[in-house]
Amino acid sequence: MEKIDIAVIGAGIVGLAIAAEVSNGEKSVFALEKEDTFGKHTSSRNSEVIHAGIYYKPASLKANLCIEGNALIYEICEKNNIPYKKISKIIVASTESQISDLYRLYKNAKDSGVSELEMVNNVQIAKMEPNIEADAGIFSAQTGIFDTHLFMKYLSAKATQNKAQISYNSEVVEIKKTNQGYEITVLDSDNQRFSFISQVVINCAGLFADKVAAMVGIDIKTQGYELKFCKGQYFRVSGKSAKLVSRLVYPVPRPKGHSLGIHAGIDLAQNLRFGPDENYIDGNVIDYDVKESAKDEFFESVSKYLPAVKLEDFYPDTAGIRPKLQGPDDDFRDFVIKEEKELGLEGFINLIGIESPGLTAAPAIAKMVKGMIK
Ligand SMILES: Cc1cc2nc3c(=O)[nH]c(=O)nc-3n(C[C@H](O)[C@H](O)[C@H](O)COP(=O)(O)OP(=O)(O)OC[C@H]3O[C@@H](n4cnc5c(N)ncnc54)[C@H](O)[C@@H]3O)c2cc1C
Repeated sequence: MEKIDIAVIGAGIVGLAIAAEVSNGEKSVFALEKEDTFGKHTSSRNSEVIHAGIYYKPASLKANLCIEGNALIYEICEKNNIPYKKISKIIVASTESQISDLYRLYKNAKDSGVSELEMVNNVQIAKMEPNIEADAGIFSAQTGIFDTHLFMKYLSAKATQNKAQISYNSEVVEIKKTNQGYEITVLDSDNQRFSFISQVVINCAGLFADKVAAMVGIDIKTQGYELKFCKGQYFRVSGKSAKLVSRLVYPVPRPKGHSLGIHAGIDLAQNLRFGPDENYIDGNVIDYDVKESAKDEFFESVSKYLPAVKLEDFYPDTAGIRPKLQGPDDDFRDFVIKEEKELGLEGFINLIGIESPGLTAAPAIAKMVKGMIK
């Protein structure tokens, strides 16, 4: 049976970043992707924001890797002509009661080590964003947007240059630990199976990372690795509503919310869209439909801080699904990035629950994973 050094399962932004980072021409590296190209799931269905690291528990992987990844993304984009814009962001409190939440968030961000952050008052907000109605806000100069498709294209080219191979239409369906390494069985687009042995396996299967972990015999329930799909929809706005803001504007997240709230996002072409909302999907099915019926809820949410927006200007855009470790009533859960030595699975590295800020953190995650490989 053919033997390789490193198998990366999944070619989203995380799998690509890892394949590019761990390949150096010396080790044989294969990335296996079930779709016909890279980034067809969560990595192409998101806000494309380079987060600053404001929201996550200080010293968590989410906070640390986001802050490190933020600097790396800007550096990589700049060096490789990948379009990006350090457009900045304001998190706005539009009710009195949100102001204390805003201060808590500001302290959290400072404790995490986020830089270029400032509390701003209503006058300063009005100067920056005349259409925003808010009592106070947090201004983050470090937040930006980038072209995630070109970024993934760059990572895939870098991996290939480093002699890693990316194999599309290759769904991993079985993994067995053997004396020689991990025997991986792959199903191709003609329903043909082939198997090979890899010394190291890196599970970056996004929404299906828990299923891949289960393939090697991990009890995902006991380990707390079961994923819950949480959908986020977007609406675009046209007409006069499309030019109402010039930077990213976020509401204060709900205390137990599992998203950052329905924000005003601008893409690199300066188009405005709102989202994502937050809906757990029963039965973990892939459902990327945007429900027209959600329009009223979006309008109600957004008009609290952007009163000039018009309901008739909203139209459905895309949706993405967050691979969440926490259910609707659970507290903060961190990324799982772990070599499963304690389970007797040396060389098997799991990446589970890589939800936001996974795009921003991807290059830092790749460096961390490289450090785990002997
Ligand atoms: C609505 C939304 C908005 C977001 N906004 C932001 C943002 O603005 N900024 C930010 O930093 N993050 C954001 N995120 C998070 C970010 O998009 C994700 O963290 C990131 O894309 C995860 O990348 P990934 O490579 O782990 O997963 P994916 O992109 O899902 O890649 C996993 C890959 O594994 C493949 N795969 C699965 N099973 C198998 C198998 N058995 N065999 C072979 N291949 C397999 C899949 O086909 C897929 O291509 C957002 C997420 C959502 C849902």
